[in-house]
Amino acid sequence: MHSPRSQRGFRSHGRASAAPAFVTLAALSGLALPSCGPNAPAPPPVDAVVLVVVDTLRADALGAYGASGAATPTMDRLADEGMLFERCLATSSWTWPSTASLLTGKLPPEHGLIGKDGSSISPDVPSVAAAFQAAGWATAAFVANPIMDAELGFGRGFDLWEGTDDSWDSASIPLERASAWLAEREPGEPFFLYVHLVEPHSPYRPSEESAAALDLSAPPSDEDLGAVTRAYNLMIKGAPYDEAAIEGFVDWRRRCYAAEVRDADLAIADLLETLEERGPMDRTLLAVTSDHGEEFLEHGLMGHGGQLYPESVHVPLILTGPGIAQGARIPERVENRLLGPTLLGLAGVGRPQGLAAANLTDAEERNLRLDEPSLLHLGNGGWIEGSEYLIPEEQQGMASNGVVTLRARLEDGDRTASHRAFDNASAPEAADPRDVVEVTSEFSKLRRPANTAPLSEELERKLRGLGYNLGRKGAR
Ligand SMILES: [Zn+2]
Repeated sequence: MHSPRSQRGFRSHGRASAAPAFVTLAALSGLALPSCGPNAPAPPPVDAVVLVVVDTLRADALGAYGASGAATPTMDRLADEGMLFERCLATSSWTWPSTASLLTGKLPPEHGLIGKDGSSISPDVPSVAAAFQAAGWATAAFVANPIMDAELGFGRGFDLWEGTDDSWDSASIPLERASAWLAEREPGEPFFLYVHLVEPHSPYRPSEESAAALDLSAPPSDEDLGAVTRAYNLMIKGAPYDEAAIEGFVDWRRRCYAAEVRDADLAIADLLETLEERGPMDRTLLAVTSDHGEEFLEHGLMGHGGQLYPESVHVPLILTGPGIAQGARIPERVENRLLGPTLLGLAGVGRPQGLAAANLTDAEERNLRLDEPSLLHLGNGGWIEGSEYLIPEEQQGMASNGVVTLRARLEDGDRTASHRAFDNASAPEAADPRDVVEVTSEFSKLRRPANTAPLSEELERKLRGLGYNLGRKGAR
């Protein structure tokens, strides 16, 4: 722990032919790992798998993804040493459904944690960590996002789950604990380590060093912030507002965000140092990704969780380790939901029942999957009534060749939908409504009764304290 810290493109949209799209989905569900045929050379053995989720990290915040002046040397170096996926989609634009998909390999309607409705990950859903555990691997999670609670099902399969209760600034906490846990591992003992950093999630409180690096010496005054709040409230109502106030504030937020990204990069440098101190990394598979991105008014909102545009679902995915091509840049659209089964396959660990094989490092398979739409989930205000998955005003979405953001009303069988498609953030374009309807229908087939077993009063109280009022329509 030597790093100083004071704290802790999508390709052009083409209309999907929805009919054949799901044929390949079915065909892939029983897919064997194409790169592991009888004549393929045996991949080098893996005895350590490290999954780093950097909360709220946009792909375009990294130098490796083209950001100019980004302070992300560690993640950029990992990209040089391994495989970078240029067009990786998170499953959702907010933490719970997306991270649950990362840890289960399943879509939100399948794993059950669909919204702020008191639902949690269903206990019978396959868990990537549990698969490592069942194979005799030591498993541990160090999670700095306070809303990620083991009781919601995130902790299944982990021998050790270290979370945090109320801090949004705790990158150093999980890493220090992770180091201690790593130090206890016997040489050669296989392990699966999951580290979830909360920087650059807001509230933005970068370290002094990163704040200085991003020239954050003059924060907005209370008066400035008051003007911004008034302007923002007018803006979202569509009324005339003070554009200069908003512009200055967004610029400030972007720099705060970049400073927190820098802190996350430093934290990863610390983690790598700890791993390297244990010995050669030639049997270590390391993945860095995010649960969602962050919006800076590109489409009218700030923050995340409200929409499914690239700024909130296009995330980094970088993979290094034995058998991973060095310096490879993968142009095809992929989903990081398939990272879990990919890691299990590359590590030679058997998949749990109900989890289809996936190998994001295999070009042939990636190309096959391009025929499928990527199903993205919003469901912020979704709730369950009987067996029906109702979405009060918005939104489930999908990505075909591009991405469609779908706003749908599904009530009593009466559905109306409007949607927008884009091939990148700057080029919104119309999509064919038939695609949206067919994909919506396919997505709805996946739905299952959510797991709404009552949460403990303690957890409800904690989440309320963090601004998460479960079960209330429209709670954010
Ligand atoms: Zn998140």
